[in-house]
Amino acid sequence: MALYRADLHIHTALSPCAGEEMTPPLIVAAALKAGLQLIAVTDHNSAGNVAAVQEAARNTGLIVLAGLEVQTREDVHLVCLFDTAEEALKWQAEVYRHLPAGENREDYFGLQLLLDAAGREIGREKRLLLASIGLGVEEVAREIMKRGGLCLPAHVDRPSYSLLANLGIVPPGMPVVAMELGLLSPAAARKKFPTVANWPLVAASDAHYLNDIGRRITEYELEVVNITALSHALQQQQFKVMLDAGRNKFR
Ligand SMILES: [Zn+2]
Ligand SMILES: [Zn+2]
Repeated sequence: MALYRADLHIHTALSPCAGEEMTPPLIVAAALKAGLQLIAVTDHNSAGNVAAVQEAARNTGLIVLAGLEVQTREDVHLVCLFDTAEEALKWQAEVYRHLPAGENREDYFGLQLLLDAAGREIGREKRLLLASIGLGVEEVAREIMKRGGLCLPAHVDRPSYSLLANLGIVPPGMPVVAMELGLLSPAAARKKFPTVANWPLVAASDAHYLNDIGRRITEYELEVVNITALSHALQQQQFKVMLDAGRNKFR
């Protein structure tokens, strides 16, 4: 078993609300500087820059999981993680099918930059990514499980775009193994939201800017780094939210 300091919720410049500085090489450099060994790229409703970040991380020792942050029919954010960029892109195709038609308005929402491993622009995603797809939270979670991925309700302790803010409870039988916190420490979250008291609770930065990377770190105890091992570690509570690491902003 080895310990991996991880931040499993990082946006790139593909997310219109993220900084244009969020390029593959700069994200990798910032993650290494923050002492991370494991990150996940999780853009809004898209996995278009995952492979580029993975390529930028090659031979650096940093492991990059493939992901996206889906916005469900209920405006709830769910982080969806996969072993490979190919699997993430397959899920992205399904997400795109359920996105409302409509183009991004760069002047209003921001740019949606597709980048290569060196950080050069290779295109722009035209469709509007900041939108809710037609699938509900349970449908998405079930589908991710079926596809061998890991679904983590994102920043459940935030007052918007979260499972607890929008639904008030964790739907009974919700097929997930853990929840992600965006503001609170696990102890504070358990006190404030009794509905998650018995759930494994991890923390991640939800970085939209380079400075955010690693501000909330969870250390996982893993035999190998893959979705199966990560799910197992979550269920077995083989992880620790690092309350005193980096620029943590826990409340
Ligand atoms: Zn979110
Ligand atoms: Zn996010």
